[in-house]
Amino acid sequence: MDNDANSAAWAEWRFGAGRGEDHLVMITLGTGIGGAILEDGQVKRGKYGVAGEFGHMQVVPGGHRCPCGNRGCWEQYSSGNALVREARELAAADSPVAYGIIEHVKGNIADISGPMITELARDGDAMCIELLQDIGQWLGVGIANLAAALDPSCFVIGGGVSAADDLLIGPARDAFKRHLTGRGYRPEAHIVRAQLGPEAGMVGAADLARLVARRFRRAKRRRVERYERYERYAETRRTTRESL
Ligand SMILES: [Zn+2]
Repeated sequence: MDNDANSAAWAEWRFGAGRGEDHLVMITLGTGIGGAILEDGQVKRGKYGVAGEFGHMQVVPGGHRCPCGNRGCWEQYSSGNALVREARELAAADSPVAYGIIEHVKGNIADISGPMITELARDGDAMCIELLQDIGQWLGVGIANLAAALDPSCFVIGGGVSAADDLLIGPARDAFKRHLTGRGYRPEAHIVRAQLGPEAGMVGAADLARLVARRFRRAKRRRVERYERYERYAETRRTTRESL
């Protein structure tokens, strides 16, 4: 069984935002960052099956601590956890910019969540809009790094935080254009939001399993056909021998 990001990438490529793209990178923004690489209809898993752990690329030397043991990992700046951490810090500091969200959670700062920030941003809360912009900018920086390394034609952004849509992906596109190496002298990858939602992983896993089963059935049919061919051949040899 594949990991969720690989399955989601597969689903987006077959049925969603990545249709028709032969070089696709999927980035899922949940609590952390998951990722997957798809090339010419194949999921690239790496030698040991753990390719796509983009979340732990270092983007800020000496930056925030990450549970992986390092500092300054990408997912410490561009993820649901980062979004919530920043909002809670501002609220805990009793910053006037956080008054909207403090009021929304009736002072219970621990109740602040990612979907709540997205919802308030949509309603025009300036702090929440700004926090999504920050997350989006870091997203664009990381995508520019990935483009330098992998050169795909398309980045598909999925996961819970992608529900913020243009509030997130707009700033990501801007930052990507500013940080892309060789910008202006190379075709730029598209950055699009995933289309299939939280079920993408399941859809992809089911589709991959179906294809594997079909390949297996084909191989079995070929074995049977080979055997029947041999039987026919043996039969003709027998009849030829008998008629001699
Ligand atoms: Zn890390």
